[in-house]
Amino acid sequence: MCFSDARFAYGPFPPHWVPRQYLETYFAQHRLDPLLIANTTVEDLSRVPSDEASDKWKLTLRKYDKLRGVDVWWEEVFDAVAIANGHYSVPYIPPVKGLEAYVEKYPGRVVHSKYFRSASVYRSKKVLVVGNSASGYDITNEVATVARAPVYQSRRHQGRWDGDAPPAGIAWKPVITEYRPEKNNGQILFADGSCLDDDDVDTVIYCTGYRPSFPFWNAATNGHELYDYDNNKLAGNYWHTFFPDYPNLAVVGMPRTLTFRSFEYQAVAIARLWAGRASTPLPPSASSGGGRRNAWKRCGGAGPGSMTSGGRASTAATCWSTSGSCSTLRGSGR
Ligand SMILES: Cc1cc2nc3c(=O)[nH]c(=O)nc-3n(C[C@H](O)[C@H](O)[C@H](O)COP(=O)(O)OP(=O)(O)OC[C@H]3O[C@@H](n4cnc5c(N)ncnc54)[C@H](O)[C@@H]3O)c2cc1C
Repeated sequence: MCFSDARFAYGPFPPHWVPRQYLETYFAQHRLDPLLIANTTVEDLSRVPSDEASDKWKLTLRKYDKLRGVDVWWEEVFDAVAIANGHYSVPYIPPVKGLEAYVEKYPGRVVHSKYFRSASVYRSKKVLVVGNSASGYDITNEVATVARAPVYQSRRHQGRWDGDAPPAGIAWKPVITEYRPEKNNGQILFADGSCLDDDDVDTVIYCTGYRPSFPFWNAATNGHELYDYDNNKLAGNYWHTFFPDYPNLAVVGMPRTLTFRSFEYQAVAIARLWAGRASTPLPPSASSGGGRRNAWKRCGGAGPGSMTSGGRASTAATCWSTSGSCSTLRGSGR
């Protein structure tokens, strides 16, 4: 989980303040503080034409001025932008027949794991947890220590931490197929035909993850959406990091892999490419056709239309979004 040049104080499962302290210390040790502008929101990111080799990016920024009690808005233009806005912010709840009517009829009965803070609020409550990935697993087991048994857990398939049978105090259910708000004070139907009524459920906790969100991305100006929600991936991306269509744009933090280490390798790859020190060019634009794209060799020569060493990014400043900031890093290639 750690960066390659600094270990965690301890682990592998430290409390949340340890990673926080680790990041703050790491930032200071690398003397990045002067490059950071915090508490500033990127409201709009638009490509602007330029006379230079590649287009530039205009950021519309907003910062709250406490003294005057107003939002200050301004624009800045950057040669290149790395988006690192995090992808665990907008909760995702899969659509189920009757869910909207159920939520309307029983406000507060359905919640998302994003808002889970402590199991203690579920003491003696009847709880149904949906999902058995990291959050679902943790929350089910924590809630089971205080809630009325059994805590129900709806699972789509066997999770990586699940055994062959549920632990004591937990009962497994298949996926929910329908909510029936009118029946028995709210009935929940499952794929195996079984159901739970309000006698069984006070709260449904959805642990069904998040959806990436790029509200600042100006699709009208930039040509297309950044994220393909139908296929659940970055649109026209390369290795979840680069965009052949936008050579001076990158995303860090998208793949669900080893958190800090994979981000570090993404950052190194971006810095190298933009500093003109990448040994491997980007493949041709996705829009230039599958044949050409497939012809591109992973570790070989430049494909047609690719970015060449010493090219556009050699003078690039990198707009690096960290903890709500946007600042300029120069000569960051390693
Ligand atoms: C419940 C939970 C538990 C987790 N547990 C673990 C774990 O045990 N181990 C692990 O490795 N990972 C864990 N993760 C995942 C880990 O938190 C993420 O992988 C990591 O935080 C991603 O880092 P990031 O810098 O990409 O994004 P974030 O940490 O989300 O940071 C994004 C930053 O961008 C800012 N930002 C967003 N939009 C804008 C904007 N428009 N303008 C300016 N700034 C903006 C945000 O304010 C934020 O500061 C967990 C995640 C969750 C939700």
